Amino acid sequence: MIPHAAAPWHISPWQQELANAVRDPRELFALLDLDPAELEPALSACRDFPLRVPRPYLARMRRGDPADPLLLQVLPKGQELLTLSGYEHDPLKELAANPVPGLVHKYAGRALLIVSPTCAVNCRYCFRRHFPYGDNKPSREQWQHALDYIAADSSISEVIYSGGDPLAANDRHLLWLTQQIAAISHVHRLRVHTRLPVVIPARIDDDCLHWLTATRLQSVVVLHINHPNELDAQVHQAVSALRRAHIMVLNQAVLLAGVNASADVLIRLSEALFAAGILPYYLHLLDPVMGAAHFATPLAVARKLLGTLRASLPGYLVPRVVSEKSGEPSKVHLF
Ligand SMILES: *Cc1c(COP(=O)(O)O)cnc(C)c1O
Ligand code: SF4
Repeated sequence: MIPHAAAPWHISPWQQELANAVRDPRELFALLDLDPAELEPALSACRDFPLRVPRPYLARMRRGDPADPLLLQVLPKGQELLTLSGYEHDPLKELAANPVPGLVHKYAGRALLIVSPTCAVNCRYCFRRHFPYGDNKPSREQWQHALDYIAADSSISEVIYSGGDPLAANDRHLLWLTQQIAAISHVHRLRVHTRLPVVIPARIDDDCLHWLTATRLQSVVVLHINHPNELDAQVHQAVSALRRAHIMVLNQAVLLAGVNASADVLIRLSEALFAAGILPYYLHLLDPVMGAAHFATPLAVARKLLGTLRASLPGYLVPRVVSEKSGEPSKVHLF
């Protein structure tokens, strides 16, 4: 596949969607016909962590339903402003594992690159909602330090593109970076952790498929989908394009009260993922980040849900339940 050489002024459809995302709570409330009484708290919560909802994602929400499971993931609420003990700014202590700008090395054998500081969607439960991305926006020269770090440590066999959302970066940069990484002989795998193809499926275009496939590295894409309603025909198409290019597609979800913390939803999620060609990989317990306490699910409830999933689904559709512990070389597998 020969990518069309993008002129500098060329703006792809996905970049237009990115720029065109809903950022004003007033517009969100008007589009979805939400109770104006909730607008003031939403505006307050946005001062801390802005609203950002791409329109293709918004189109999958039900109008006039304040409990819509997609809306709840992006809706700023007054509860976010509560200071609760046990909820921190950097619950995973990622800042301590940041040896060079743009690189996090906390998992054995895997180096994580903060490829883009921004996301296409701002998820209210995100554990990186307070991460100082401003300090992690490396120039090409600084990328060289991250690449040198990877080249100097032969235990690193996998590079993970993370963020923010790595697919918010442009394909020219991603092509360059992937070529640099492929030149380091001890790296075998490239993993991309992204939510962009879910919220803007047009992101999976020819230019994107080009750098993902024109490399000796084996590519794995880990999507982030929490509810079956997130999978529409466009997402199916994007995933099919990845799979036709022989890219493995996995999913990680976060267990979220009000969104997917029920056996029925989790079973439907696994089935809908598989129908789209995606294997359920992780189900994360919520990280105790300040502002996200209203999504928390008790551990006992999570354990019971998983028991029901195991009793109802084939093993390959049951996600691994994990949580992050700061300082650990891998995630903690709970049950
Ligand atoms: C957990 C996690 C990783 C590492 O994942 P493994 O599958 O355990 O290797 C990388 N990036 C992000 C964003 C993660 O949450
Ligand atoms: S990093 Fe992932 S979970 Fe966090 S806001 Fe971005 S897309 Fe959402």
